[in-house]
Amino acid sequence: MRTEEALAQFCAALLPPEHGGPEPAELAERVVRHLDHVPALTRYAVKAGATALALTGRLVLRQSIRDAPPEQRVALLDRLAYNDRVALALDGMKSLVLLAFGADTHAAEMVARSTATPPAHPDADLTVISSTWWPSHTHADAVVIGSGAGGAMAARRLAHAGLDVVVVEEGRRWTVDEFRTRHPHERYAELYRDGGTTIAIGSPAIVLPIGRGVGGTTLVNSGTCYRPPLSVQRRWRDEFGFDLADPPRLLTYLDEVEELLQVAPVPLETMGRNGQLLLEGAAKLGWSASPIPRNAPGCAGSCQCAIGCPRNAKYGVHLNALPDACRHGARILTDARALRIIHERRRARGVIARRPDGSSVTLRAPIIVVAAGATETPGLLRRSHLGEHPELGRNLSLHPALGVAGRFEERIVSWQGVLQSAAIDEFHRSNGILVEATATPPGMGSMILPGFGRNLLRQIEDADHLAVFGAMIADQPAGRVQSLGPHTLIRYDLDRGDGRRLFDAIRVMGRVMFAAGAVEVLSGVPGEPAARSQQQLEDQLARADIRKMHLAAFHPTGTARAGADPDRSPVAPDGTLRGVSGVWVADASVLPSCPEVNPQVSIMAVALSIADGIVNRG
Ligand SMILES: Cc1cc2nc3c(=O)[nH]c(=O)nc-3n(C[C@H](O)[C@H](O)[C@H](O)COP(=O)(O)OP(=O)(O)OC[C@H]3O[C@@H](n4cnc5c(N)ncnc54)[C@H](O)[C@@H]3O)c2cc1C
Ligand code: SF4
Repeated sequence: MRTEEALAQFCAALLPPEHGGPEPAELAERVVRHLDHVPALTRYAVKAGATALALTGRLVLRQSIRDAPPEQRVALLDRLAYNDRVALALDGMKSLVLLAFGADTHAAEMVARSTATPPAHPDADLTVISSTWWPSHTHADAVVIGSGAGGAMAARRLAHAGLDVVVVEEGRRWTVDEFRTRHPHERYAELYRDGGTTIAIGSPAIVLPIGRGVGGTTLVNSGTCYRPPLSVQRRWRDEFGFDLADPPRLLTYLDEVEELLQVAPVPLETMGRNGQLLLEGAAKLGWSASPIPRNAPGCAGSCQCAIGCPRNAKYGVHLNALPDACRHGARILTDARALRIIHERRRARGVIARRPDGSSVTLRAPIIVVAAGATETPGLLRRSHLGEHPELGRNLSLHPALGVAGRFEERIVSWQGVLQSAAIDEFHRSNGILVEATATPPGMGSMILPGFGRNLLRQIEDADHLAVFGAMIADQPAGRVQSLGPHTLIRYDLDRGDGRRLFDAIRVMGRVMFAAGAVEVLSGVPGEPAARSQQQLEDQLARADIRKMHLAAFHPTGTARAGADPDRSPVAPDGTLRGVSGVWVADASVLPSCPEVNPQVSIMAVALSIADGIVNRG
């Protein structure tokens, strides 16, 4: 059976057209287009899942799912969802379908809102050259691998010092015009590695989206800019001997990052109702909360940060650090996946990267800065035969997150406002729980809605009455990044205590929702209806199993941690990779443990400091 046909059967059961759902074949076609961007294994899994469902439907219903009455289709899904494993597969397929449906439904509205006003900033002047046009053999003083938070800052500092810098980036450059006019679903599929389907395998599995493009994950992040707490800076210095995190030393870099990124708290007038409700609920409970500091000068609350800001208001590194680096002579080589670092007699000599057509580009340079992100950096080092340190790839923290939604009598339209706008830090110091009002781009958050069929459609229709909060917990480093040939495998086994704190986070969010006036709360506990009181929410949590919860994470760190102990830390305190000279690591990998807040500012400050060390090493 063709994937389109099998998926159309699933769509017909999930969102029956008889009850107002979309035309199944058209929706299935959009999902299949998304599958073009995901790894082959995920594609086969979806195909196998959809085909198995279609065949089961024929067996049980004695006709194709599409020909059966909608109630029977939904009953079939309900029955299948009793089996935990099948429920997991159904959830995965449901997420893909609802993402496509939501994006489609709101595409016209999003484009209209995006183009209603001119961008806050023009695209930056960047010296970008695609690998297709780049000569096969070149020289530079320094090669930086990855153009995200860490790589951009390192490149900027090295270029300022007069070095001839080439930034090698696997993704491509995006323009604000594309963010204003391209279909939101296509943006999602293309802006993320693996089409946004990266998963940390474990119990539970955790969805882990990672950006790819000039600007790295800052292209798609929410713009939240927290400094690492002082307690974390001290821990990195004292427990790991990571001297760069010494608070007085880090301070100047944190100041520099905030100034460059134009960080300021979200103004109440652009925040939107979602964030305001979080602040109102917290105020009623007497809890500490405030608007989030963000790098988004000119933000108009169009709530599309996660698929590229259509106003160029969110000040990702493609709009500040990278253009500054280019002004000082840096060049960005795009569509070039760094395959390996060349080294001779334990001294770095350059980088070999692959063009999309499979041919290679060789860049000779004595200084290599690796900033491919916490999930890609270990694999790159292993492919380069520089990955023998036993701790490389281990100590992965994810800062796991989950969300709840609250239904209100009033219309909230969570997607009219700032995507991530206000936060509660009341339980941050005591329990490592940070709650943030986090909406999704219009229509793209329906995966939080339980059930199938008419009920699901009704909830989607009513989504403008939902407020959406998310919470992250400071976690133990419970994961690792492994390499399977050229592929990256991410494994993460949630610590038990962290699991309990995730339930605490749901409790906290429930209390805020009810205090703000929610009539019911969707806890995200599979199989449970909306809770109409805090007690009902508590009852649901008492029955819940963390292994069945839907978790996501956005902040992988620690896979090449820096520190003084050569046995514990693959990277020395100054960012040099142990065992070779001329290679530095300057991205999320070097953070010794979970930064406990959204990490981009920490990564950028540390990368600047590492790059200063390269410049000043004499
Ligand atoms: C949806 C989302 C929202 C987020 N929101 C926030 C937020 O609001 N605030 C915050 O502080 N943090 C946020 N984050 C996290 C933050 O953006 C990242 O932690 C940060 O960007 C990581 O920086 P990095 O330099 O380690 O990697 P990245 O920024 O991911 O950059 C790595 C770059 O390297 C490239 N690359 C990888 N491998 C190769 C290779 N082999 N060859 C060439 N190039 C390669 C990648 O394509 C990528 O562009 C968010 C993350 C996500 C996914
Ligand atoms: S909410 Fe995000 S996408 Fe929308 S204007 Fe502000 S920064 Fe840009």
